[in-house]
Amino acid sequence: MARKKIIAGNWKMNMTPSEAVELVNTLKPLVATEDADVVFCVPAIDIIPAMEAAKGSNIHIGAENMYYEESGAYTGEISPKMLTDVGVKYVIIGHSERREYFAETDETVNKKVLKAFEHGITPIVCCGESLTQREQGITIDWIRQQIKIAFLNVTAAQAASSVIAYEPIWAIGTGKVATTEQAQEVCKAIRDCIAEIYDDATAAAIRIQYGGSVSASSASELFSQPDIDGGLVGGAALKPDFGKIVNYK
Ligand code: PGA
Repeated sequence: MARKKIIAGNWKMNMTPSEAVELVNTLKPLVATEDADVVFCVPAIDIIPAMEAAKGSNIHIGAENMYYEESGAYTGEISPKMLTDVGVKYVIIGHSERREYFAETDETVNKKVLKAFEHGITPIVCCGESLTQREQGITIDWIRQQIKIAFLNVTAAQAASSVIAYEPIWAIGTGKVATTEQAQEVCKAIRDCIAEIYDDATAAAIRIQYGGSVSASSASELFSQPDIDGGLVGGAALKPDFGKIVNYK
């Protein structure tokens, strides 16, 4: 069975609630498609107004992060229950910016992934190598390790329903998109790794995105690769260009 593409925007720390409503309204007609799942992962405070604005459209509103505890003394955090209470179905987990600035590790990523599944939220699990790691030739080993830890104790059925975003750190926000060959090579290695951990059916079902400076001009070639099932898009997700990325064909 062919995998349905999934194209997600990662708004990062951009857009006030009123700007979010405006952006959803602008993008709504531009991202209409039946060929792909379209997700806008937005700042927590934007989730409710963005959902209101997206009503009746094909846009799913997702979160950019969540904590792995249910509730309690964790000042500043958002729990999975808070997300599901308002109908969130997707959450980005382990983005490299969370790892770099907020001390997230492969272990906390794993805890969050397990928690997301417990609550029926689909995690978009991020992985990616630094430029130094790429230059050292250890990209695939590094990514395999990230994936193996992120999916510890995750069942095959859960893994099959999840999304992995391969985002080379050197390509994020730099305008330096990975070549199609580089992106396909790593996304295939991720799929092979999932086949090793689980089985071929799980590997065939899981959706793997590429992220890092995806633009309207690079989307079509990237998303046409056999192991790339869409993208996680930062900067270009805040512009009308996102419509072109979603309708890349
Ligand atoms: P970018 O960000 O498209 O601005 O490079 C992608 C991401 O960080 O998810």
